[in-house]
Amino acid sequence: MKRILVIEDEPQMLLGLRDNLELEGYEVLTAADGEEGLNKALSSMPDLVILDVTLPRKNGYEVCRELRARANATPVVMLTARSQETDKVLGLELGADDYVTKPFSITELLARIRAVLRRTAGRPSTLESCRIGEIEIDFRTHQARRGSTRVEFTAREFDLLRYLVAHTGQVVTREQILNQVWGYEESPTTRTIDNFVAKLRQKIEQLPHEPEHILTVHGAGYTFVG
Ligand code: CA
Repeated sequence: MKRILVIEDEPQMLLGLRDNLELEGYEVLTAADGEEGLNKALSSMPDLVILDVTLPRKNGYEVCRELRARANATPVVMLTARSQETDKVLGLELGADDYVTKPFSITELLARIRAVLRRTAGRPSTLESCRIGEIEIDFRTHQARRGSTRVEFTAREFDLLRYLVAHTGQVVTREQILNQVWGYEESPTTRTIDNFVAKLRQKIEQLPHEPEHILTVHGAGYTFVG
């Protein structure tokens, strides 16, 4: 049985969605604000998240962005009340898999859910491990080795590396890294990030001064190449 988490603050809408999804044979979890929704999405491992855009405590865009920033790849279908193209594009840029504009018919939403579940079948829900050159990295156990030699990373270095790898091929700005790897409550400077990147390069690049994996994009930020 597939498990769907519905994050929606309007009680009528939430109950309607829950009943209809249960009738379709889904197990349904619910959350009525963005903060609770993000926590449930991370802890209860749903197969798909239905995410309203306008939510108290954290809006749908923030929930989606934070989910992806934590390398969580659970499929997300956003419910947007707005019809502006920019809102849809923003949701997709932040990592949503599809969106449905309110008001929608339940038939339409169910069809979208089935399509997204089909399309994302087999996608790992989190980035658990990766290989960079000769280094095998396990993000769950925080272990890395080159052959039989252990490569030491600090917890923050693992987080930064996982964030970069999860966004392979995309340019990430220092501000994105600050917000999503360090979090809002801490305030390191952008210089701190450059220092962390330098340390990562020492560990994963063959020639740290001519990096092949963590590339600097001048005037923008960094991009990871696998
Ligand atoms: Ca709402």
